[in-house]
Amino acid sequence: MTQTIGYNELAQMLRCAVGQIRDNHEMLSKLDSFGGDGDHGTTMVRGMGIVAKTIDESKTEVIKTLLSDIGWAVMGVDGGAAGPLFGSFFSGMSEPTDGKDAIDVATLAAMFEAGLASVKTLTKAKPGDKTMIDALVPAVEAVQKAADEGASITDALDKAAHAAEEGAAATRDMQATFGRAKNIGEKSVGNVDPGATSVSLIFKGFIEGVR
Ligand code: ADP
Ligand code: MG
Repeated sequence: MTQTIGYNELAQMLRCAVGQIRDNHEMLSKLDSFGGDGDHGTTMVRGMGIVAKTIDESKTEVIKTLLSDIGWAVMGVDGGAAGPLFGSFFSGMSEPTDGKDAIDVATLAAMFEAGLASVKTLTKAKPGDKTMIDALVPAVEAVQKAADEGASITDALDKAAHAAEEGAAATRDMQATFGRAKNIGEKSVGNVDPGATSVSLIFKGFIEGVR
């Protein structure tokens, strides 16, 4: 059972998230071509490339510094809405790690909560609006619930990955009310949201990384 993770395990989680996005970027851009401008995969690959580069070039092994550096770098990615949204998620995640060199399940839950809170400063989108929020909120809630029940980090991340996957799948039946896909109105129903799919892939990478 994984009870705490350190810098290297976190870096491994992030690297696997990068791998998931790289492996699926064509699908992400295709999803974005239905209601958006077809660039989501490209933007995410660019953003996650910055995640990998920041890990590679990191001179300290300080968890907070790594997440905060990643967050700020990803926020600056050009290409649209995703850079700031995903960047602020990583940057928010850094906050509860102040002074910590190991992350337990309660800290992990606090990190995801803080990441979500940071995303919420940029968007008023709620679950049901067909955005990345539809995958992120259930994933964060799943980790919190698992932490409250005293689950291991591996269990908590496994539940989060499933919750994110279900959350992303559920966007298929939703009508977009935020982002570019809002412009096509009812026609957005029938395809899953690209940003929610990215969240699901990132959490899939996280669980792969701890395993
Ligand atoms: P852009 O729409 O600027 O081209 P991307 O294609 O990279 O950006 O990302 C699109 C994804 O970003 C959407 O699928 C959605 O999940 C998310 N998104 C876009 N705008 C918003 C918003 N206002 N609130 C929440 N999520 C959003
Ligand atoms: Mg786009």
